[in-house]
Amino acid sequence: MAGDPRPRVGVLALQGDVREHVRALTSLGADVDLVRRPAELERVDGLVIPGGESSVIDKLSRAFGMKHPIRDAIRSGLPVYGTCAGLIMLADRITDGIAGQETFGGLDVTVKRNAFGSQVDSFETDLEVPVLGEPPVHAVFIRAPLVEEVGQGVEPLARLDDDRVVAVRSGNLLGTSFHPEVTGDLRFHGLFLDAVRARAGRHGADVRAG
Ligand code: GLN
Repeated sequence: MAGDPRPRVGVLALQGDVREHVRALTSLGADVDLVRRPAELERVDGLVIPGGESSVIDKLSRAFGMKHPIRDAIRSGLPVYGTCAGLIMLADRITDGIAGQETFGGLDVTVKRNAFGSQVDSFETDLEVPVLGEPPVHAVFIRAPLVEEVGQGVEPLARLDDDRVVAVRSGNLLGTSFHPEVTGDLRFHGLFLDAVRARAGRHGADVRAG
């Protein structure tokens, strides 16, 4: 129902920092399910793909029979938020993947894995994010990817000082190179839940009209 205060969202729980996302979403008032099976995906109105290791998430999603259901859900407009490895999983194209690495896709971007090299493997910085307003977002990057190319219809939401893109949105898909779930600044999760609530409202109206 539109404005439902408790949206039901899933966190893809194959590998990665699942618990941090569960905590973030729960503290924002969502009901959170761990999603490992297609039937669990069907019950949620939005999905978070956590940070972790994208090549492992790719392999496990195939092993668990989740790859095609997630692709189909993305295609049909399910709101999905990917952080770090999750952003990689949402990219239509990746560079520096391991041999045979695949993604779910949906975001018309090219994402480079491990884009910051070993010397600055991990770092923190404050990012201006106009769509979130003030204050800047304190962003934690951990062996992070970068958005190298942005296709039509993809909105860059944040850039580093040198202009490289580290957060994007396209339709109901949201991706960040960094990890808001570990800092306590939950405005990106809030943006995701706005999309979940908006779609759940429309969906309910469609079902009632149909
Ligand atoms: N380097 C990881 C990968 O390629 C992403 C790191 C992360 O999610 N913190 O999947």
